[in-house]
Amino acid sequence: MSILVYIEQSEGAIKKSSLEALSFAKAFSEKIGGGEVVAVALGDIADDELTKTGTAGASKVLHVKDSRLTSGIIQAHAEAVAQVFNKIGAKTLVLAKSSLGDAVAARLSIKLNAGLVSNVVELPDTSSGFKVKRSIYTGKAFAQTEMTSENKILAVKKNAVPLKTDGATAAVETLELNLDDHNFSTKIISTDKATGEILLPEADIVVSGGRGMKGPENWNLIEDLAKELGAATGCSKPVSDIGWRPHHEHVGQTGVKVAPSLYLAVGISGAIQHLAGVNSSKCIVVINKDPEAPFFKAADYGIVGDAFEVLPKLTSAIKAI
Ligand code: FAD
Repeated sequence: MSILVYIEQSEGAIKKSSLEALSFAKAFSEKIGGGEVVAVALGDIADDELTKTGTAGASKVLHVKDSRLTSGIIQAHAEAVAQVFNKIGAKTLVLAKSSLGDAVAARLSIKLNAGLVSNVVELPDTSSGFKVKRSIYTGKAFAQTEMTSENKILAVKKNAVPLKTDGATAAVETLELNLDDHNFSTKIISTDKATGEILLPEADIVVSGGRGMKGPENWNLIEDLAKELGAATGCSKPVSDIGWRPHHEHVGQTGVKVAPSLYLAVGISGAIQHLAGVNSSKCIVVINKDPEAPFFKAADYGIVGDAFEVLPKLTSAIKAI
């Protein structure tokens, strides 16, 4: 039985989190001695890019082109994936946990009469029943959920499973679907694109500043380091509340949740609400002048020091590499 994996793209590039979802599906298929892993990609995306799904485990990728899919209408995405799921006779759908993934998965759960488990962190245990381990309470605990439905949807947490690649390529098949009978209630009228910026939710490296940066006039230190690292910039909530930085940079429980390979926190105390947005990061580096700052407990590496001394040195050291 095939496992279907929903692929997300950004500006025509497949997202890393979707490749992780493919690796997860491939490993699960091998574990249960199951069938092939099939990817479904929607909208404008080049064949060269689509073949890359093979390296993470897809044997083929089904490509549905339709302008409503390119413009990101969520109802259209859910309808297209549901049609593909039924067409190939899949029983399991795997996707990355993300804001788009959440919106699509919830609709698919209804359309496919499928159980849905989100924030999955491990391959399901099928030794007796179908038990799935998921992260809960913003990463503070785990829960085991038993799925009893025939159709299943698994939304995999970013950075929770290793991305395995083998250089293989997937065959690309273009699929025509009938989306015309569906009256999608959303119509995209216009879109604004942030240009020249690395988008925070997708960034592989994030440099974030807190109140310890003292004021917006000092943010050039954060930006200089971010530029050298090819990183996105973030901030703590009070920083965006005071207006030092725009709200879309606010990281945490009530802001953006990031899952980069490297999160650099500068002058941020490490309140639980901030940590809730960064605990999927692979490596956390904290710079704080207070050795008792709670963030050090969550850090992989820490520098006790004044940000105004450490940041310029770090930036010039990286520049020199
Ligand atoms: P502070 O707590 O003031 O910490 C500043 C840090 O900078 C200190 O650790 C200090 O030692 C250090 N420092 C000072 N000077 C220097 C220097 N020169 N060099 C190096 N270090 C220095 N917060 C979020 O960030 N995200 C959220 O999503 C969020 N959601 C919230 C939701 C609720 C319901 C509530 C009640 C709060 C929320 N908060 C959130 C706020 C959170 O509780 C903290 O108040 C906030 O994260 C603190 O921000 P901060 O670390 O920048 O500032």
